[in-house]
Amino acid sequence: MEQFDVVVIGAGAAGMMCAAEAGKRGRSVLIVDHADKPGEKIRISGGGRCNFTNLHAAPANYISQNPSFCISALRRYTQRDFIALVERYGIAYHEKTLGQLFCDGSSRQIVDLLLNEMKQAGAELRLRTSVTQVEKNEDGFRLALSSDAVQCRSLVVATGGKSIPKMGATGFGYDLAQQFGLNVVETRPALVPLTLEPVMLDRLTPLAGVSVDAVVACGKTKFAEAMLFTHRGLSGPSILQISSYWREGAEIAVSMLPGVNLFEELRAARAQNGRQALQTALSAFLPKRLAQLVAETEKGPANLADYSDKHLRRIDEAVNQWRFKPAGSEGYRTAEVTLGGVDTRELDSKTMEVKSVPGLYMIGEVVDVTGWLGGYNFQWAWSSGWCAGQAV
Ligand SMILES: Cc1cc2nc3c(=O)[nH]c(=O)nc-3n(C[C@H](O)[C@H](O)[C@H](O)COP(=O)(O)OP(=O)(O)OC[C@H]3O[C@@H](n4cnc5c(N)ncnc54)[C@H](O)[C@@H]3O)c2cc1C
Repeated sequence: MEQFDVVVIGAGAAGMMCAAEAGKRGRSVLIVDHADKPGEKIRISGGGRCNFTNLHAAPANYISQNPSFCISALRRYTQRDFIALVERYGIAYHEKTLGQLFCDGSSRQIVDLLLNEMKQAGAELRLRTSVTQVEKNEDGFRLALSSDAVQCRSLVVATGGKSIPKMGATGFGYDLAQQFGLNVVETRPALVPLTLEPVMLDRLTPLAGVSVDAVVACGKTKFAEAMLFTHRGLSGPSILQISSYWREGAEIAVSMLPGVNLFEELRAARAQNGRQALQTALSAFLPKRLAQLVAETEKGPANLADYSDKHLRRIDEAVNQWRFKPAGSEGYRTAEVTLGGVDTRELDSKTMEVKSVPGLYMIGEVVDVTGWLGGYNFQWAWSSGWCAGQAV
């Protein structure tokens, strides 16, 4: 039976980082993935340009039952470390917005970087290889693979979350955690578009494709970013962000003109040109189709002059304090990440080793650490993968 110091399951962002680091330390490393290609989520990420990290990545940008768990790993391998690696490869990048760094060219460059790092470090990559059984024994772990069986001292689980099953996502990491008696924090789709009840969806259908800069809130959490009306409901960065905090039955509050006192603006418009239609006055602030829908919903008088203050105030509220209960989310089919995962209380925050199973490591998205939208999830993959790579 073939022997390795380290076997990594999952050739995604975290797994490849870990395999390269372990290899650099002289470990013999095998990394297996059941997919045809490595790093497929990296390839499709950031619209094909990979938002590979965020200049401002900090523990506050992560959701976990234990918010301080990620501190150590994020400090040990920072966004600056990954940026330095990207620069070493001469990959051109830019900040799009809010500290989000994207490749100028293609996300493929990040996959190639990781493949090259692994190659240089002598890590062996086997694709189209499934793990059918994992057994703990005196020498570490014995893995039954679809091809043969291998033995390793350290086993790293980097199989990611459940999002986008058609790209190879499985619940494998969670099942393996349970096999070893580890607690798994309930998982749910996150960074995911929200859906609307049929009646509301019907009313908003004409807005599909319209985008506004909004402030979207759920309870005390709010995000100021673009919001997009779609054929199924709502999407865009602010909605994806809030979806990680939203729970079934909770209300979402949206301000579609943050910082604008629409009541005062409409009053001023009424004083200046009372013969204009409400829709015309609203079009100065809102996309045309949205202005039209708001005006139609109001079913008010033809001229702005005939609108009372009370009515104008109500229009301001409809635009700036829109409250609704989403019907649900689009689920794992389109979610960017999975919330929850292997309970961080089971892991050493410096090494990602399972406290009760020496030699077993959990890294990346399979762990109950979920980043905001904006490069934070890849940074967690790099940081947790790097930490495990120093320990295996
Ligand atoms: C459409 C989309 C766009 C995204 N864009 C960004 C972005 O721009 N910036 C950002 O920070 N994050 C982004 N993310 C999130 C990011 O891709 C993930 O958080 C990150 O890839 C997690 O890394 P990971 O290594 O833990 O898991 P993954 O990258 O998902 O890798 C897991 C690997 O394990 C393999 N695997 C799974 N099960 C098995 C099994 N049973 N046996 C063998 N192999 C298995 C999979 O094939 C996969 O290769 C995006 C996600 C999606 C879906």
